[in-house]
Amino acid sequence: MQDKVTIITGASSGIGKALAEEAHKRGAKVILSARRKEMLDELASSWNAEDYLNVQADVTREEDCFKLIEAAVEKFGRIDVLINNAGISMRALFADVDLDVIRRLMDTNFWGTVYCTKYALPYLLKTKGSLVGVSSVAGYKGLPGRTGYSASKFAMHGLLEVIRIENIKKGLHVLIACPGFTSSNIRNIALSKDGSSQGETPLDENKLMPAEAVASHICNAIEKRKNSLVLTAMGKTTVLLNKFFPKFMDGMVYNHMAKEPDSPFK
Ligand code: NDP
Repeated sequence: MQDKVTIITGASSGIGKALAEEAHKRGAKVILSARRKEMLDELASSWNAEDYLNVQADVTREEDCFKLIEAAVEKFGRIDVLINNAGISMRALFADVDLDVIRRLMDTNFWGTVYCTKYALPYLLKTKGSLVGVSSVAGYKGLPGRTGYSASKFAMHGLLEVIRIENIKKGLHVLIACPGFTSSNIRNIALSKDGSSQGETPLDENKLMPAEAVASHICNAIEKRKNSLVLTAMGKTTVLLNKFFPKFMDGMVYNHMAKEPDSPFK
């Protein structure tokens, strides 16, 4: 990733923050983006000003995404890598959830990816660069209590796969990266059925894959121009078994998720 101009959305926390640090360590010129710009400024406080740009952007707003891409091109003259990482989660049964929760999931995870990709694509085609979506194992297997989340990630898969195929003769690289459970803030702020933050994580975050390890795997996959990446033993097993035994995996996933503390189903 040496000298590659790399945009990372959702760089203020978790996997995005770790990606920012990893890409910077590998010599990339990084454009960091999130709503909380103060977190980005803190992250890059010791970096050389020529190596990065921090841009405040809410990916649910098309205009913010347009301005993010234009700011990157204005400073660095090109784009080599776009990492669509910004994302939120939820936990509520579909029968109980306010529809606005599903809309917020789709606006952030899916539409945020659509907007950034739409405006970055002409530049990525010029450099035969890399378009990356940080999806999830939930983009391969529906997770109970996460309708909006799984739907947004399945939608990302469809979007990115088609963009890959449409540009197969133009040298564009498209990576769909699917972390398994990763230690981050995502479950603390996941939306409950009424749209409020869950405020706690049902998992022991210390036992999950560290965000830094996920970032390293994603940067390796970008450098090797891989099409897909699935992480954690549980994630890989889920994706593999689901291919051959989807009905069996419905039951397995139900039983596993029902064991979470305060699960909305038993
Ligand atoms: P975090 O909650 O730690 O970080 C989420 C990031 O997304 C923050 O930087 C946040 O920044 C940003 N973000 C959220 N909403 C918006 C928005 N509307 N506009 C711009 N930025 C936004 O979560 P993770 O690091 O865990 O999640 C990163 C990605 O990884 C997500 O796409 C998630 O689905 C995926 N993932 C995570 C897994 C996990 O177990 N942690 C597993 C599989 C996939 P700010 O609030 O400052 O805007």
